[in-house]
Amino acid sequence: MMTKKLLEAVQKQINAEIYSSYLYLSMSSWAESEGWKGVANWMRVQAQEEMAHAMKLHDQLLERGERSVMFAVDMPPSEWPSLLAMAQDVCAHEEKVTASINNLATISMHDNDHAFYQFIQMFVKEQVEEEANAGELVVRFRRAGDNAAMLDMIDQSLAARVFTNPFPASAT
Ligand code: MG
Repeated sequence: MMTKKLLEAVQKQINAEIYSSYLYLSMSSWAESEGWKGVANWMRVQAQEEMAHAMKLHDQLLERGERSVMFAVDMPPSEWPSLLAMAQDVCAHEEKVTASINNLATISMHDNDHAFYQFIQMFVKEQVEEEANAGELVVRFRRAGDNAAMLDMIDQSLAARVFTNPFPASAT
């Protein structure tokens, strides 16, 4: 059995991951409408990754004999003033997610839930990567500024991203 405090925090985290997926899908939609096909692809893949995070937590609750509850999902923003502003939002969002993942680790430590503490470490590790990716986007868009050729180059490179399971069996 998980403690009530930990269970509720994990249920909220599942909602937060689904919101993340919504947010990135919204960013993808906006980028597509602005003609940034590569950015749209990158964000769409990111949305898939976030859904994989939600499912991993969902499955963990089921495996522990607990219930996963589907709360209402907030509506994300639907437009941004620039690609840089959008990338900055990605950064700020991932920092918030890292804080809530760290909070899950802290609660499971205090509640002596070693199984969950061990489980959540893969998310702790994943967040380091998420923040690095977001930071890299900000740097690239900031450097490009209004230079159309540079923005096109970034867009083209982001078109190459394909979805891979963030939690392959070998990593868990
Ligand atoms: Mg996530």
